[in-house]
Amino acid sequence: MALSEFELIQNCFAEQAAASMHPDVRLGIGDDCAIISPAAGQDLLVTVDTLVAGVHFPDTLSPSQIAVRCLAVNLSDLAAMGAKPGWFTLALTLPEANEVWLREFSRGLFKLANQHGISLVGGDTTRGPLSITIQVQGYAPAGQALRRDGARPGDGIYVSGSVGDAGAGLVLTLKGNVDESNFLVRRFISPSPRLALGQKLLDVASAAIDISDGLLADLGHILKRSQVGATLQSDNVPVSNALLKAVGKEQALQLALSAGDDYELCFCVPAERIEKMAVLAAQAGVAVSQVGVITEEAGLKVLDESGQPMTLTQTGYQHF
Ligand code: ADP
Ligand code: MG
Repeated sequence: MALSEFELIQNCFAEQAAASMHPDVRLGIGDDCAIISPAAGQDLLVTVDTLVAGVHFPDTLSPSQIAVRCLAVNLSDLAAMGAKPGWFTLALTLPEANEVWLREFSRGLFKLANQHGISLVGGDTTRGPLSITIQVQGYAPAGQALRRDGARPGDGIYVSGSVGDAGAGLVLTLKGNVDESNFLVRRFISPSPRLALGQKLLDVASAAIDISDGLLADLGHILKRSQVGATLQSDNVPVSNALLKAVGKEQALQLALSAGDDYELCFCVPAERIEKMAVLAAQAGVAVSQVGVITEEAGLKVLDESGQPMTLTQTGYQHF
């Protein structure tokens, strides 16, 4: 006999969740609410993201890839504020209760969740067009979470890893390539949330954001919230060799500035803390590049190799 939807949720989520539970979770899946006893001296950071099939990921992604992408983008929001992952809830809207699909989804979900020590404590399951909502919660030491509004004139602007890869990976994925042995495809489908780096930056960064909509757009959020401007050196924007090889220098820069989905961190560091930051970033095992400097004068200037301001057309992805 086919399993009921309820049994499927039990088998695919409740058992795996119970196997590894954050110590502050008093009660997980199975009651009307989860119960958490938050640790003293910590602020609770809360965020939610919905991924809709055909909008945020192509239908060609496997259930495991969908799960990984959805959890990773939420974890990236915790990383951007320097938070430590705690627990999450999962609201699944599914066209049908397909056991094979759910088992595969669950496998990808718990692989990433266990890697980052985040526990599934509840959720909701409904029928409809495929859509996944994950809400994550994490901790940062009270009053110390990294925010968008702390950048000051003179701060260096840094980017982790490389940017633009996922933009190129999205194009490949839309053409039907979901093979993650391709670096660019992997960068789109399985972003690496920079949690270790984010936590290290608590002591040194004045502001931070994760790059979901493109470097210019997301840095723009820091500038607006901090009421400052910035000048970027386009040739300092970190692009991977794989991206350069795939699309050439000009297109690589365009993607690096304007394409989203890389989930790298963009952060600001006052001059006197740059040395310390470099040590901490190395400890986190992530390369960081200085791409520019915060200015008192409002606006975002991008300079080309010869120091001339560039004209920019696209500043990032917007849903509406
Ligand atoms: P209620 O109607 O009281 O909200 P549900 O029947 O929706 O309860 O869910 C029963 C239990 O299973 C709850 O603890 C809920 O958090 C959990 N749950 C339901 N769907 C999921 C899911 N997709 N992932 C994780 N937990 C889930
Ligand atoms: Mg209830």
